[in-house]
Amino acid sequence: MKILRRRQFGNPVLRQKTTRLSSARIQSGEIQDLIADMRNTLERRQYGVGLAAPQIGKSLALSVIGIKPTPTRPELQRQNLVIINPEITKLYGKKDNMWEGCVSGAEMYAQVPRHKKVRLKWQDENAKTHEKNFAGFMAHVIQHEVDHLDGILFVDRVEDTKTYMTFSEYKKMTRTKKA
Ligand code: ZN
Repeated sequence: MKILRRRQFGNPVLRQKTTRLSSARIQSGEIQDLIADMRNTLERRQYGVGLAAPQIGKSLALSVIGIKPTPTRPELQRQNLVIINPEITKLYGKKDNMWEGCVSGAEMYAQVPRHKKVRLKWQDENAKTHEKNFAGFMAHVIQHEVDHLDGILFVDRVEDTKTYMTFSEYKKMTRTKKA
């Protein structure tokens, strides 16, 4: 398994609308190997909780979510999900400001308004279709990942630009909050 090279903000691939995958292609060796490599790449990182195909240079409607406890969010429970051709079919309630960064994004964090609950339709790595509601942190991560597949980056969603901070300041703030 490989650790895939990540593309950073400014790379045009992050601004493209991705191509949907047919069920046959999802089950191909090419895509199955790509999913394994993306999972591996995400697992080796201490902080990332999601990796979209454009972030490793592939303009495909595929994203791997791997939530794990991190030094800044130790309360998180492990959760893994591969979302292919995802569509948010419903957004619930009003938005909440959530702290957000991106592994392609030069280690900057900011507050982003996100819905607390979403309904997602997607295909899994076996091309099976699902539709389900997600709430909490998972709903937050899903909104970030689906945006990546539409060429949208979290910085486009920031409303209060005064909340921008570097990763080291973000870590300091989360430590202070817990103390
Ligand atoms: Zn991202």
